[in-house]
This record gives sequence, C-alpha cells and structure tokens, in this order.
Amino acid sequence: MKVDDIMIQLEAKHSGEFEYLQAVREVLASIEEVYNQHPEFEKARIIEQLVKPDRAFTFKVPWVDDQGDIHVNTGYRVQFNNAIGPYKGGLRFHASVTLSTMKFLGFEQTFKNALTSLPMGGAKGGSDFSIRGRSNAEIMRFCQSFMLELWRYVGPDTDVPAGDIGVGAREIGYLYGMYKKLARENTGTFTGKGLSFGGSLIRPEATGFGGLYFVHQMLQEHGIDIKGKTVAISGFGNVAWGAALKAAELGAKVVTISGPDGYVYDPGGISGEKIDYMLELRNSGMDVVEPYVEEFPNAAFYPGKRPWEQKVDIALPCAIQNELNEADAKQLIANGVQCVAEISNMGCTAEAVDTFLEHKTLFAPGKAVNAGGVATSGLEMTQNAMHLAWTKAEVDTKLHQIMANIHEQCVKYGTEKSGYINYVKGANIAGFMKVADAMMAQGVV
Ligand code: GLU
Repeated sequence: MKVDDIMIQLEAKHSGEFEYLQAVREVLASIEEVYNQHPEFEKARIIEQLVKPDRAFTFKVPWVDDQGDIHVNTGYRVQFNNAIGPYKGGLRFHASVTLSTMKFLGFEQTFKNALTSLPMGGAKGGSDFSIRGRSNAEIMRFCQSFMLELWRYVGPDTDVPAGDIGVGAREIGYLYGMYKKLARENTGTFTGKGLSFGGSLIRPEATGFGGLYFVHQMLQEHGIDIKGKTVAISGFGNVAWGAALKAAELGAKVVTISGPDGYVYDPGGISGEKIDYMLELRNSGMDVVEPYVEEFPNAAFYPGKRPWEQKVDIALPCAIQNELNEADAKQLIANGVQCVAEISNMGCTAEAVDTFLEHKTLFAPGKAVNAGGVATSGLEMTQNAMHLAWTKAEVDTKLHQIMANIHEQCVKYGTEKSGYINYVKGANIAGFMKVADAMMAQGVV
C-alpha cells in the first residue's frame, strides 16, 4: 500500500470532502508500515474496504417552526464499518454538517470504538439543523421528523445512535420517544438516554472525564504532576463541562472556555459554581460565552479569538474539528505547552498535528482521548441488555479501566526508537489491527 496512490484515487472521487480525506490520510500514514508487513491485508484489499462506508443514508427532514413556516433540512446516517460489532456513534446537529463531516466522523469512530475494547462498529449521523435560538417545541418537531426516516435503519443489534454536538439529553429523549413508538420496542436503541428510561450514570460526564483520565495517564507516564497545571479548554458544551469538572477535581486550573463569539480567560480558574454556570450558558441556547464576564468580572472576554494564544501548560480542544491550526500549535509550543490532547474529534488540523509531532510535544488524538464517551455508551448498552443499572462508582471504575487500557495500547504501538510516544501512530495502529483482524476473519462481505 502506498498512501499517496490511495489518496490520489480518493481525492479524485471525493474532491471537496476535505474532512473525510484529512481523516483517512492521517490513519493511512500511521499504519502504512505495519500494513505493508502483512501481505495478507493487501491481498484482501483491507484498505480499499476500510476507507469506504458500508452505506450512507441521506434524507429530507421537513418540519414546521413556531410561526408555522416550513423548513427542510438534510439528515444523514453513515454506517461505516461493523466488523467488530453493531454500528455505533453519535448524531450531530450543527449548521456545518455535510456528508464529508459525517464520513470523517464515521471513519474515526470505527477506530475509536475498536480502541475501547468493546464490541462496537463505527457510524455517525446528524443534520445541518442548528438548535441555536430554537424553542423546545421546534426541537421536538425536528427530532420527530428526523426519526420518521431514521428509525428503519437502526436497532439495538444493528445501529445504536447517541449524542454529539447539538444533541444532548433533551434531543435524545425526543428522538428515542419517536423511535420507540415507530419501532414498537423499548430495548435501548439509543445511548445517552435519561436516567429514568435506561440511561447510564456518568454518561453525560464520560467524554470529559475519560479525556482527563487519559491526560492524567499521559502526564504520569512522563513524570509530570497534573496538580497546579493551567489548562486551556475550548467550547462550553457537554464535553468541555465534563473536562472542566474532572480537571478541577484532579487539582488542575482551567483558565479558558470558548464559544462561536470568542473566548473567556479567567485567571482565577474555572471551578465550582463557575462550571455550573457553563451549564446555564449552554441551556440559554444562545451559543455565546461573553455573558460569563458579566457574572464573573475578574475574567476577560476576547471576541472572535481562540484560547490557544494564552500561555498554558495543557491545551484541550473540546469543541469541533480543525479548531486548532498550525499557527496556534506554534504559539502554544512557543509558550511552553507541556501537553495537548484532543477531546473534540480531529480538533487539530493536519498541519497542527505535524507541528506537535515534529517538536515532540506530548500530543494525543481524539480517537484515543475522547473514547470515554462512546465507551460509556457501550456500558449503557450492556446495562440495557442485562435490564439493570450500575452505580456511579461501578461505571466510573470501568471507564477508568478502559481509558488506562487505551493509553497502554497507544504506548505499545506508538513508542518510537527515540523513546518518544507517538500517540497518533499508537492509536491508529491499535485500532486498525483490531478492525483488520475482524475483517480478515469474516471474509469478503
Ligand atoms: N459522539 C460521541 C463520539 O464522538 C459519542 C458517540 C456514542 O456515544 O455513540 O464518540
């Protein structure tokens, strides 16, 4: 396999699908060497099979707003690969959603889910619908219309959706309510459900908690104490919230959060009631962080900017893909950053990742760092299948073990001769080997 040859073909066929091409190139570059040591992979055309989704649905989502006007959005579900288990992955409701976004996320999800060591294949879905400024009733009608199409393609042993950007507990509730009615079953086809109808404790916090467990492991591996370290976080949604909670608990000091309007720098540290206030901000539905500085006047707001210009020890992108670019990476390095970990999916551009790896910065990719979210979804599926609910401590212990195991796999496959741990390579090879092995065993299907 030659990465460049495969990419030339893919670029010709899928020109314009930038995020998808970016995600594929990163994985192929990491696994090229290992892949070429296995002629049986090449013979079975594993790469050609792996870069293509098993199937991708797009559908029309018409809905009526509170004024009686009709809107028409596009819905997607990309079932990428089910070699190791039923399709599994979130739904994203965001204006930026395209088929390319869905394909990149589904591709990434395949390897991420493999890393969790749970039997889950990779999928992703969503819509270009934005919840910003929408009423509860509008969001409910949208979710119901979305589900009228999607319900046929999902099921507890087929494809299990969950949340992502713009899809939290409220949306999952509306989606699941409609699904249940149409499918006439109540077996937990969604994860991220409310606690009163099959949801798991710790699931809301899990992506952020898992991310911090991973960062903690990375730092320990390198003899660095997380206590007292300053942390820049981007975003202010569910993932940023969980990350801030756990970072504060571990003794680190979170100094930034951000939104589409800019970022907030709080030198006093974002903990306690300030983290609770993040939830209020998010629930306001306005998608802005500026009001934070009215509530906590010691903080400063930087309109239209991103937090990476601040001098911090740890940087954690928690918002959206490609939110940290090469210039940001250079700035962070110049400011002496000790660790960068993507809690968002593909939070860094390819150039930013290359910059970190060239400088031997301690850097880890989203598919390893943020796998705690989907892993806890896997634990929710297990609890649903067993018709019982584990305690907070039980779920948290399992999440901890899973993150430690992912870290171990990254070290195993990513340690270079110099001793530098290339977590990008480690995560990609570990995820790939598991999926490839399952595909080989199951023949040409
Ligand atoms: N959207 C999350 C992710 O990117 C969670 C998916 C899930 O729980 O299925 O992994």
